Amino acid sequence: MIDVLVRGGTVVLPGAMPVRADVAIEDGRIAAIAPEPSDPAREEIDARGLHVLPGAIDAHVHFNEPGRTGWEGWETGTAALAAGGATACVEMPLNAHPPTVDGASFDAKAAAAGAAAKIDFALWGGLVPGPLDRMDELAERGVVGFKAFMCDTGIDDFDAAGDDVLGAGMERAAALGLPVAVHAERPSELRAMDGDDWRAWAASRPPAAELAAIGRALELAGATGCSLHVVHVSTGAGVAAVAEARERGVDATCETCPHYLALAEEDLERLGTLAKCAPPLRPPAEREALWEHLGRGRIALVASDHSPCPPAMKEGGFARAWGGIAGAQTTLALLLGDGARRGLPVAPLVELLTGGPARRLGLRKGRLEPGADADLALVELGGDHVLAPGELHDRHGANPFAGRTLHARARRTLLRGHTVFDDGRVAPGAHGRLLTPDPRTRP
Ligand SMILES: [Zn+2]
Repeated sequence: MIDVLVRGGTVVLPGAMPVRADVAIEDGRIAAIAPEPSDPAREEIDARGLHVLPGAIDAHVHFNEPGRTGWEGWETGTAALAAGGATACVEMPLNAHPPTVDGASFDAKAAAAGAAAKIDFALWGGLVPGPLDRMDELAERGVVGFKAFMCDTGIDDFDAAGDDVLGAGMERAAALGLPVAVHAERPSELRAMDGDDWRAWAASRPPAAELAAIGRALELAGATGCSLHVVHVSTGAGVAAVAEARERGVDATCETCPHYLALAEEDLERLGTLAKCAPPLRPPAEREALWEHLGRGRIALVASDHSPCPPAMKEGGFARAWGGIAGAQTTLALLLGDGARRGLPVAPLVELLTGGPARRLGLRKGRLEPGADADLALVELGGDHVLAPGELHDRHGANPFAGRTLHARARRTLLRGHTVFDDGRVAPGAHGRLLTPDPRTRP
């Protein structure tokens, strides 16, 4: 007997037009996707009027637990993701304490996550100055790759990787068959802030800093044979540089974030430090360029870079405030809603949240096909929904998109057939499991 039948939804499959079909679930896996499965089911979910997608995978979040759980936490962070249609996330090695830079810190974070996560999770390891054999410990435990900062991190327990450290780390990562992800801003191109307002913040971290860092990272990736992933690219030229290198044979990809696609620097006037992040929001022309690249398939994935902090840390002007946007819950709504209004087809947009990150990081997730984990997002596409602050599930509800009209929203989220979010409520309990990359997908 079928455990769960998701009936009458519009199923989105890669490279195809969405089709009306039922999804049958047995033992937490997809048993069939068919116009009309005939078997009865113990539980039926009415998905008429909704799109049925693979659950989203947020490849870039900071949940700060253990050590800085007051900033966020696995329970609240993954609740926000589940409410936004995500069924898996990949968490960054900072800003928890200790940061995830060796086997013991990986174990501590995996334990904290396993005790509280509402959805599945994987971990990035850190590439920081220090003994390289810690990377081997992290690889053995199943990190998806290694994150390095090419500039100061803003936190004192995670150091930047200069060119020497980055190059040596890339060699090691290449030998381990894992990618290196970089925060790309070149310190030599950053400027002191001239004032304390948003204009001074934006001017202090110009596009040239991002471009210079991406250029250097691409050189190092080419020289070492390392697979490179550039996180949160904020400029069209940044995406173009990665795409050109890929055409030359460098194994390089990039991601961007909803805030670079849905906001521009003048929004900082209205939003204040809530929307302070690094690299900063850019002029509208960059936002348009990112959508253009996205439509042409030059961006591998879209991720939230959910980077929350206690509200007090957002006070005190642009120089002092924490740089990070707490957008875990709104990634899918913004990408699919705004993308559709720009005339982009839904299936490739969905790929940026599902198959794209899964393939890039070697995770066996993000697919709607028989035998796959029954991770589903039931999504209302179109319409106008004003996001109310009370709908937010992250710890501080400091999402800069609160109050904005969204044109898509997750109505129900299933993790391995189990409903983790429905009708505005996140189910109690921790159901998430640690995901590790499948060696067969490694180069
Ligand atoms: Zn980040």
